[in-house]
Amino acid sequence: MSQVGDQGTLYVISAPSGAGKTSLVAAMLKADSKLGVSVSHTTRPMRSGEQDGVNYHFVERELFEAMIARGDFLEHADVFGNYYGTSQVWVRETLASGQDVILEIDWQGAEQVRRLMPECVSIFIVPPSPEVLRERLTGRGTDAPDVVERRLAEASEECRHALAFDYLVVNDQFDEALADLLAIVRAQRSRMAVQQYRHQALLAGLSD
Ligand code: 5GP
Repeated sequence: MSQVGDQGTLYVISAPSGAGKTSLVAAMLKADSKLGVSVSHTTRPMRSGEQDGVNYHFVERELFEAMIARGDFLEHADVFGNYYGTSQVWVRETLASGQDVILEIDWQGAEQVRRLMPECVSIFIVPPSPEVLRERLTGRGTDAPDVVERRLAEASEECRHALAFDYLVVNDQFDEALADLLAIVRAQRSRMAVQQYRHQALLAGLSD
C-alpha cells in the first residue's frame, strides 16, 4: 500500500552518479505540481552554482552530529566521506498535508527509509550501459584519472543495491525515462488504497 487515507506518497529515488537522477527529478517536479522534493542536509562543501537551502542545507559536521543526536533525521548516511540526511519533521508534515514527497538519497538511506516506512515507493535509475556511465562520468574531461576511477567504483557500489528497489528506470532517452517515472507516480495515485478515500461518495453512489 503506497498511501493510506489522504496521506501523500513517499518516493525514494536512488541512482549511481551519472544516471541523470537530479535532472530527471527536476523535470518530474516541473511536470507534476503535486510532487515536492526534500532538501537534504549535508556536510560536503557547496559546489559552484549551488545555493544553500535550495540544493542542500549546508552545515558543519558538529551541527550535523548534534542533529543526529537529537533525532532530527528520518535517515542519514556517510556517503563517500560526507554526511547526508533527510529532515524527519519536514517529510512527515508534508506527507500528512497530503503532498507527495521525493527523497533523492543513496542506497544506505533508501534501506533505512524502507525499514521505517515500508509503504514508500522506491525507484532506482540506471544509465543504459557501463560504457555510457563511463562516458558520462569522464565526459567533463577535467578530472584526474584517480578521481574518475573512484567515481566509477562508487557508481558500481550503488548499483549493487538496485535489486532492493520496487522499480528500475533506464535513462537512455531522457524523455522516455521521465515518462516512466511519471507513469509510476500516476499508477500509485490510482491504487484502490488511495482512491477509495478520494472517491468514497462516487463509489457509494455507484454501488446503491
Ligand atoms: P552529491 O554530493 O553528488 O549531491 O550526492 C552524493 C550522494 O548523496 C548521491 O547519491 C545522493 O543521492 C546522496 N544523498 C543526497 N542527499 C542525501 C540524503 O539526505 N541522505 C542520503 N542517505 N543520501 C543523500
